[in-house]
Amino acid sequence: MPVMELKQVNKSYKINGGETFQALKDINLSFEKGELVSIIGESGSGKSTLMNLIGGLDSDFQGEILVDGENIGDYSEKNLVQYHKEKVGFVFQSFNLISHLSVLDNVTLAMTLSNVSKADREKRAKEILGVVGLQDHLYKKPDAISGGQKQRVAIARALVNDPDIIIADEPTGALDSETTDQVLEMIKEIAENGKLVIMVTHSEKVAGYSSRVVTIDDGRVIDDQKGSALTVTDNKYKTVKPNRKKNLSLIGSTKLALLNMKEKLARNILIALGGSVGIMSVILMLSLGSGVNSYLTDTMNSQVNPLVSEVHMPDEEPENQTELNEMRDQNPLMGLSSSAPFGTENIDELSNIEHVEAVEEGFTNFSIGTNKASFDGKATQFMSVTTVSSMITSADIVEGGLPEEGEVMITKNMADTLGEDLVGQDIQVDTIVNEQQLNLTMTVSGIYGAEASAAIDTVYLNYEDLKNAMEEAGGGLNPNIIYLVSDDAAATDSIKSKVEDLGYKGSSTEAIAETFSQMLDVFTYVLAGVAGISLVVSAIMILTVLYISVVERTKEIGVIKAIGGRKKDIRRIFVSESFLIGLFSGMFGVGIAWGLSLIANAASTHYFDVAIIDLTPMYAVSGIVLSIIISMVAGLMPASKAAKLDPVESLRRD
Ligand code: ADP
Ligand code: MG
Repeated sequence: MPVMELKQVNKSYKINGGETFQALKDINLSFEKGELVSIIGESGSGKSTLMNLIGGLDSDFQGEILVDGENIGDYSEKNLVQYHKEKVGFVFQSFNLISHLSVLDNVTLAMTLSNVSKADREKRAKEILGVVGLQDHLYKKPDAISGGQKQRVAIARALVNDPDIIIADEPTGALDSETTDQVLEMIKEIAENGKLVIMVTHSEKVAGYSSRVVTIDDGRVIDDQKGSALTVTDNKYKTVKPNRKKNLSLIGSTKLALLNMKEKLARNILIALGGSVGIMSVILMLSLGSGVNSYLTDTMNSQVNPLVSEVHMPDEEPENQTELNEMRDQNPLMGLSSSAPFGTENIDELSNIEHVEAVEEGFTNFSIGTNKASFDGKATQFMSVTTVSSMITSADIVEGGLPEEGEVMITKNMADTLGEDLVGQDIQVDTIVNEQQLNLTMTVSGIYGAEASAAIDTVYLNYEDLKNAMEEAGGGLNPNIIYLVSDDAAATDSIKSKVEDLGYKGSSTEAIAETFSQMLDVFTYVLAGVAGISLVVSAIMILTVLYISVVERTKEIGVIKAIGGRKKDIRRIFVSESFLIGLFSGMFGVGIAWGLSLIANAASTHYFDVAIIDLTPMYAVSGIVLSIIISMVAGLMPASKAAKLDPVESLRRD
């Protein structure tokens, strides 16, 4: 049975305007093993068209091309891929070696596509490269070897999967006469080893090498001369068929993508850097948001008890409101001296709010020049008398504890003026509250506050003590702050909103914190917008670059298809490349964000004693994953464009 048989093969090309051009007309040919068939004919006579049909690169024809009794025109993609892997090997006029792969890798590629093990691949490729005399050039790139050597690499590539048929379209077209002889001799030997070689050539020496010469003119076979049959000799070019059941592995495609990226290293680094800007801004934005937020929360929590809500009577516009507010910004524990006092009906109303477990009365007073604390002959002015409540947590007490009956807690600044080891000592406190002069002797229970929270010198004491003192002085005391203690931290928010519904005012510190946190939100949205835009920009950039890459690598894609690469494999190579770009830009992005966060944190720690950027490993990983996803999505279109390229078209381009 012939190896290949063509029956009534016709091929017409569609050309512009719906017309067709018939390039092959009623071709009937039959080829045997061990034949070296030369196809000759004038340019444009249809030789390449015929080769493309025989090679299974073009399945759009009428008639039958039978290989082992099956018409390759009826083959599914899967069958065609199998045909390319097992049955045919191609040698092209312009070599079509892949420039970023070494000689060895160009030859192993056909086996990489079948996921043959690395050791096996290299062993076979080295063997066959040895046969064609290139054992000393294994690791050179195609650019570094001569034309004759390139064509020998291409022959090795065609042979490495041990095909039955070798198709060579003008293999000597780009060679000088000496190398032409070498290559033709080699091709003849291949046929002598029992393969069917079909070759298109212009060389006049053809007849001398061929066992048969088929002449084509205007798409028809006009002559078919059989010369002397070749003597089948020993199997110099025969290799064992590798196990080709499998397909290109993910690792294989990633390695191919890496090799290509390495070739255009500078470009790829720039792309990754460009892509990293978006990722970097996203990570920085998230980390900054979380850093500032946790700082705010920590600060609030260390100064307030989450179970307690502070309540004031509605505003009465006191004269020194602005000044007061400024001070209150700095001292969250300070109430509003001119807040109106609560009446019993107010307190009843507040205590009836759901989840309110206890109601604490409080008082805060603020005045300048009338308050003095003295100890051991030293005196210091202070500005506020404030009662303690459950609101105060002990987090900011630097020494001692909260005041019990008959005790006061004073701010650090005051303590520094009055002397050392004050805790446990009695001090004299003179103040005017609601126009009553109070002269109290109290024991210091503790020193309050580091930093900002104790910026306003304040004497803290118990409400009962203050009330008793006021009564002794001939006055009385009504609370001007109420603290509502809830039975459940989760209920505190609902208590606060109920308080506002009833017309009372909440804590002004909290109001400020709220405003600040809203501003922070706006800021975060703006940053998110910028980050989003830069992500879109990098996606478009990656898309463009991959499109360019597809155009640049059209030939390579054609070659991969010719040696048995599936659409899927090609898509996979490009997707791997976009995966790698995404991975690298993600890593760059995280790296840059990390560097910037170190700088920013060093600065903020220096000035504010707090690290404002909180770059967690979670953010870093999310950033890299996001980058990979974006890049792969951007790579989908170029990858499927590459997969759809017509191998005949892509190999024709020079
Ligand atoms: P040869 O290889 O013998 O020089 P080809 O097989 O390349 O000739 O081309 C045969 C004829 O078919 C030529 O006239 C050429 O213009 C035409 N042809 C080849 N490819 C196409 C195509 N894709 N579309 C239209 N016409 C084509
Ligand atoms: Mg041609």
